[in-house]
Amino acid sequence: MNDHLDALFKPRSVALIGASAKELSIGNVIVKNLLHYQFRGPVFPINPKVDEIRGLKAYPSVLDVPGEIDLAHIVIPPPFVPEEVENCGKKGIKAIIINTAGFKEMGAEGQALEDDSLARARKYGIRIVGPNCQGIINSDPTINAYCNFTFTYPDPGHISVVAQSGGVGAVIMQAFFDMGIGQRMYASNGNGSDVSITEIVSYYGKDDETRAIVLYAESLNDPLEFIRVAKEVTARKPILAITAGRTDKGAEASRSHIGGLAGSISMDLIYKKAGILNFSSQDDLCQAAVALSSQPIPKGNKVGIITNTGGPSVIAIDELVSCGLEIPPLSDRAKTILKETMFESASIHNPLDVVATAGPAQFKSAFEVMLSEPQFDSIYLNFVTPPFVDCESVAREIVAAAKAGTKPVVCNYMTDKQKWSGTSAILKEGEIPCFDFAETAARALHSLVRYHGIRSAKESIVKTFDDIDREAVRSILEKALSRGREVLTAGEVYAILEAYRIPVAPWAVVHTVDQVCDAANRIGFPVVIKADSEQIIHKSDVGGVAVNIPDVQKAETVAETMKKNLGDGIHFLVQKFLPKEQELIIGAKASVGVGHIIMFGLGGIFVEILKDVAFCLTPVGDTESMEMITSVKAAPLIEGFRGGKGINKAKAMEIIQRISMLGTDFPAIKELDLNPLVAYEDEISVVDARIIL
Ligand code: ADP
Ligand code: MG
Repeated sequence: MNDHLDALFKPRSVALIGASAKELSIGNVIVKNLLHYQFRGPVFPINPKVDEIRGLKAYPSVLDVPGEIDLAHIVIPPPFVPEEVENCGKKGIKAIIINTAGFKEMGAEGQALEDDSLARARKYGIRIVGPNCQGIINSDPTINAYCNFTFTYPDPGHISVVAQSGGVGAVIMQAFFDMGIGQRMYASNGNGSDVSITEIVSYYGKDDETRAIVLYAESLNDPLEFIRVAKEVTARKPILAITAGRTDKGAEASRSHIGGLAGSISMDLIYKKAGILNFSSQDDLCQAAVALSSQPIPKGNKVGIITNTGGPSVIAIDELVSCGLEIPPLSDRAKTILKETMFESASIHNPLDVVATAGPAQFKSAFEVMLSEPQFDSIYLNFVTPPFVDCESVAREIVAAAKAGTKPVVCNYMTDKQKWSGTSAILKEGEIPCFDFAETAARALHSLVRYHGIRSAKESIVKTFDDIDREAVRSILEKALSRGREVLTAGEVYAILEAYRIPVAPWAVVHTVDQVCDAANRIGFPVVIKADSEQIIHKSDVGGVAVNIPDVQKAETVAETMKKNLGDGIHFLVQKFLPKEQELIIGAKASVGVGHIIMFGLGGIFVEILKDVAFCLTPVGDTESMEMITSVKAAPLIEGFRGGKGINKAKAMEIIQRISMLGTDFPAIKELDLNPLVAYEDEISVVDARIIL
């Protein structure tokens, strides 16, 4: 045993506390599963009332079992669990799977039982999976551990699954099974009181036979630790995750733009930060896992297509191109060779149509040429099995060529799998990932390219700005917090931004109409006058914003009108008027346990209506800030589009990074909205800002 989770995933013996002779009970199903899956070690049913279960001798207690036990299941009701954990400790058991539900998910009483069980386990150095979980599976033929009450018996393979929800995990396991794809390990840890998803991911990361990890999580105990661990793993092997909880109605009621837009997307951002491939469809995820667990990683996005049928290539190309992959032409060298080796009717292009009558020799040559062409990073194959062709020999050539090359191959395999079972078996044995539809194969190939992008991405460097004044911000925040205030005044907000060297339009906060006129003269016309009050959230909605004020007479009447309409208590923010060029929005929203979510977008309708914004978790590094700016759909406007001038991207990136640092330095900032910033070719300045604590 060289890892603390070995007792869990590689148990040499298993006890089942609460084993039952009743067929329709978890305590019976787990025994059945262990026997059916041919677990390599002894199984000890524990039940004081019966002598044997499914032909195995039952013991009254784990303490009565002769010999060592590595792992115990507990399936008895919650009130009896802590005491059994204690017995496991006395017996020297190293890991426990508590399948029973009715713990913290049921409230305080359950929480107390969960805590008690965990405390006792800790005392003995026992690791707990669950409670309220399925357990684990390890298909390694030397272990064959089916410590789980599900019903799918996976063949050995290279995909390992970890799921917080057993329901989702079991569906994914069955999907792989139906596709004829083996699996390596499986774990569903339910309440996750002890062994965490992070630990399981790390364990799979170290397992040489695991080539791809599939993850389903709705929440993480320590997201920052998860990101650190997962990043290490994704540098070596892909992690594929389903994004769950993307919609969050509650977020809509938020007081700032960032609040409403960020919702609960933090899982997705955690995955992005860790280099995890995220999927919104379980089907896409499973198909991608098949390709990622069997194929080498391509060196780029250029695809060579081999096909023995027409239409599916058209569909494949549509999908490949819309995923951002490229289909470069064949070289002259390739054409010269292929003209010799292909049938007369073949189409010597990319896609290379070898035509339906092509046999092993044509496929062999097609693969040799395509794989050796340096302008292709991967091969996409459409393979229909014509009844007039020796398909088994073709399949052998495909497998041999793929094995000899270093480029990934994916196959849209069009056949009757029963009638062509020999051909199917050869492709399967040769680990050619086969898919039922052209677009499915194309998307699986895209996931390989996505993973290449993650692996080859430049490390995003987080810049520490040392020209900032932390103390100034600290004192403003402490003062506001000590008075229980949540919304900062304009004066406080702009002082904070200036302390972090975030460029703001020249400003002054004043109280009287005379002071407005003085401030406007000082700043220089034209100016903007805004009402500043904790009660006013959207100033322009209540007539609290007057822009482009040309002179002091107008300033005076505007200020007087605002006082009259909005009350004597308001303050005025007098600001330099910046003629509109391009408006931007940048925001930050605190997200429990992960720091802040930073948002970037173009202002106005782009954010209000199109919700065209990009997000990233703090700390936002240089590459990430660039990616945020270039990933919004309206990015061409930022670059300068049809005569538009574009904006200073370097400055926008710097503001994003400075806001990221402000958030990291001051977790008390719950929401920060810069909306808008006015951006020009050279300068960018904040003209409206809000901070909520
Ligand atoms: P609110 O968002 O509370 O309604 P803003 O301060 O954002 O108030 O003002 C509303 C709009 O007025 C802004 O979105 C922007 O288009 C314009 N605006 C505000 N301040 C300035 C300024 N200093 N220069 C030019 N336009 C401005
Ligand atoms: Mg605004």
